[in-house]
Amino acid sequence: MLLLAVSAIIVAMTNATSPSSTEETHVHTLVVGTGPAGILAAYHAASAGPVLMVDRFTLPRDKSCGGMIHPLSQDIFAEMGATMPPELLLEPEEVFFRYNDWDKKRSYDTKLGFLNVDRKPFDEWMLSLIADKADIWDACEYQGHEETPDGRLRVRLNARGQERAVTCDWLVGADGSRSRVRRALGLKPFDCYLTVQDYCLRTGPVDAVFDCFWAEEIPDLAIGYVIPKNERALVGLIYYPGTKRAHEQQDHALEMLRERLNIGESIKREAWSALKHRSVKDIVSGQGQVLLVGEAGGFLSPTSGEGISWALDSGRSAGRAIAAGGAGTSADTVEAVQAQHRRDTAHLRRMISWRLRIYPVMTSRWGKSLLGFTPKPLIEWITRRI
Ligand SMILES: Cc1cc2nc3c(=O)[nH]c(=O)nc-3n(C[C@H](O)[C@H](O)[C@H](O)COP(=O)(O)OP(=O)(O)OC[C@H]3O[C@@H](n4cnc5c(N)ncnc54)[C@H](O)[C@@H]3O)c2cc1C
Repeated sequence: MLLLAVSAIIVAMTNATSPSSTEETHVHTLVVGTGPAGILAAYHAASAGPVLMVDRFTLPRDKSCGGMIHPLSQDIFAEMGATMPPELLLEPEEVFFRYNDWDKKRSYDTKLGFLNVDRKPFDEWMLSLIADKADIWDACEYQGHEETPDGRLRVRLNARGQERAVTCDWLVGADGSRSRVRRALGLKPFDCYLTVQDYCLRTGPVDAVFDCFWAEEIPDLAIGYVIPKNERALVGLIYYPGTKRAHEQQDHALEMLRERLNIGESIKREAWSALKHRSVKDIVSGQGQVLLVGEAGGFLSPTSGEGISWALDSGRSAGRAIAAGGAGTSADTVEAVQAQHRRDTAHLRRMISWRLRIYPVMTSRWGKSLLGFTPKPLIEWITRRI
C-alpha cells in the first residue's frame, strides 16, 4: 500500500510526455534512454541548455534487475543531495553479499552490504530527480542520426508510431546493452548474457543475504543469485551468450534450489540481457558530438554484473563534460568535451580492465576451489573490487 502511494507521488513528480506536434524541435542535449546513466547525464547537462530524454518504453519502465543498490550509488545520490525514500526499501532493507558454492556446499559471508529495492519504483524515484531539468518523451524510439550542414545532429525518432526529427548539439547514448546509438557509430554490438529472473513465493524463511551461487549442474550458468524481497524470493540466473533452452535450465535450477531453500512457486518470470565484454576495447566513451554512457559505453562490472553505480558514474561524467562545453560545438569544444568524458571515466576503464584479467580465474574450476583456501580478509578485499 505504502509503495503504491510513493509510486503515485513519484509519477506526479516526473514529466513523461509525448511530443505535442510534428514540428522539428531543437535541444542542446538529447539523451536516449531513461535508465540511471541517462538520468545522471541529463541532470548535469541541463545547466548548459535544454535537455530532451527519450525512451522506447512507456514510463514507468519495468527493467529486469536484482535491485541491489551498491554503496557507490548511494554516494552519488548523497553528492546530489538526494536521499532515497525509505519506503523504497524492501525487507530485509540491507543484504550482505555471500558466495555460495553449491557443488562443494560451502558459503562465504562478506561485509559488503547492498540496499534492497524493487527496480521499478527505484527508477521512478530517479526520474523524479530530473523533473525540473529535462523533458521526457516515452514510447519514443531512437532510429538513427546524421550531421547537419550547420554542425548539429539531426536525430530520427519514432514517437508513438509517428516519425519525428529532433536536432541537437549533443547526443547521449544511454540506451543499454543493445544500444542503437552505439551501433550508429559503426561499433560492433556487444556479446550479451541472457538473464532469467523468477519471483518466487517462499515456503519459509530465506537467509537475509544476497546469495550468489554457482553449480555445475546448470551447464550454461555464469552466476546465479537468490535475494529475499519482502514475502518473496527473487531467483536470478545469468547464462553465457549463445545459451539454448535457458527456460529449461531455469526450471531445473529452481528444482535444485527448492531442495535446499524455502523457495516455492514462481509467480513471475522475466528474461533480459546484460553485456559481456570481449575485451577492454568494448569500452567506448563516444565520438564527435555523441557520448556513450552506462552499458551503451561498456560501463558495467564484468565480474559482478553490478551496473547501476557504473551507469550513474559514467552518466555524471558525460553530463558534466557537456555542461563544461557550454553553448558552442566548435571542433575545439567537441574535442575538449570528449577528452573530459574520457578522462573522467578512465577509472572505470581501469577497473574493468582489472576485472577482465581476474574473470577467467574466478570462473575456472581451480579458481572456485581456491576460494576455500583464501583468507577471509583477502575475500573481503576482492569482493570490494569485483
Ligand atoms: C537481470 C539483471 C539483474 C541486474 N541486477 C543488478 C543489480 O542488482 N544491481 C546493479 O547495480 N545492477 C544490476 N544489473 C545491471 C543494471 O540493471 C544495468 O547495468 C543498468 O540498468 C544500466 O543502466 P543504463 O542506464 O546504462 O541502461 P538501462 O537501465 O538498461 O536503460 C536503457 C534504457 O534505454 C532505452 N532504450 C534502448 N534502446 C532505445 C532506443 N532505440 N530508443 C529509445 N530508448 C531506448 C531502454 O528502454 C531503457 O529504458 C542487472 C541487470 C540485469 C539484466
